[in-house]
Amino acid sequence: MRITALAGGIGGARFLRGLLHHLNARELPSDVTVIGNTADDITLHGLRVCPDLDTVMYTLGGGIHNDQGWGREDEEFTVAGELAAYGSGPGWFTLGDRDLATHIVRTRLLGEGMTLSEATATLCERWRPGVRLLPMSDDRVETHVVVDDPADGQVPGDGPIPTRAVHFQEWWTRLHASVPARQILAVGIEAARPAPGVLEAIREADVVLLPPSNPVVSIGTILGVPGVRDALRNTAAPVIGVSPIIAGAPVRGMADACLTAIGVETSASAVAALYADFLSGWLVDEADAGEVSPPERVPVVRSRPLLMTDLDASAAIAGAALDLAAGIRQAAHG
Ligand code: GDP
Ligand code: CA
Repeated sequence: MRITALAGGIGGARFLRGLLHHLNARELPSDVTVIGNTADDITLHGLRVCPDLDTVMYTLGGGIHNDQGWGREDEEFTVAGELAAYGSGPGWFTLGDRDLATHIVRTRLLGEGMTLSEATATLCERWRPGVRLLPMSDDRVETHVVVDDPADGQVPGDGPIPTRAVHFQEWWTRLHASVPARQILAVGIEAARPAPGVLEAIREADVVLLPPSNPVVSIGTILGVPGVRDALRNTAAPVIGVSPIIAGAPVRGMADACLTAIGVETSASAVAALYADFLSGWLVDEADAGEVSPPERVPVVRSRPLLMTDLDASAAIAGAALDLAAGIRQAAHG
């Protein structure tokens, strides 16, 4: 079975770890390709950092800090302390020593002329994540967030409030998404080309999965890469999504702030509506079982527990997504 999944960071990685566990436990031969979000990428201290690719790589490769969900286990922060002593910011994005090695190697490989796909494949030779991990694009795409930037002493009613754009990581990590996003822009996306293998992986899959990743800044940016959405509409494979929203709230993180910024309600069915043009099946939590989507928009909705509390719970969710796909395929072929 050829399985292709689109993924952001923590939500995507935990789901994928469950998926691999499920496939191994059932001894189901399969090839899993993961198309990772790269719009969170940022250059810090001259190093190219790819948080979502690394979260998937470390989680599946056994190097992740489990409780935190990102970064390396047994991390140390000697370099971060030395950088701070130089006043070399930003202080809001801490990179651990072990993690830094990844960014140093990636930056060197890119500097030697490798594409991001090639550099990612090289990093994965160490981590052996058990999937083919592809960046959504080798071209640079960065999510920026437009926020209010009032002049000193300006109070509401004092005329138009100036705005400024900050990198997504600054809004998310420094500001904790507490400042409303007036706009969320994926800078560079119109000109970005899907990385080699991305469109083929969608077209030639037996099943396409959308893990419970952020619908705006993870899945949304992957869908924004020209060609990806069309490939999803046209693939013969069932496309099954798992809701990241349970009972009107994100399970972790501030996805609600991202949805609000694009004028979408924070609910499982509103997220499904974002994918309605290509979605075949949608898993919602039991808490949302009553939320009925119009059948013409999302053909099949199933409810089950969707909290990825541990590996077994994540594996059961992934198994349910595959079962839903199998049911849809069977129905289509009589
Ligand atoms: P990020 O890049 O690290 O923010 O991670 P993703 O984009 O992959 O995933 C973030 C989303 O995962 C958030 O919107 C969360 O609501 C969702 N999420 C996290 N844990 C769970 C879980 O246990 N169950 C479900 N259904 N969603 C989850
Ligand atoms: Ca992310």
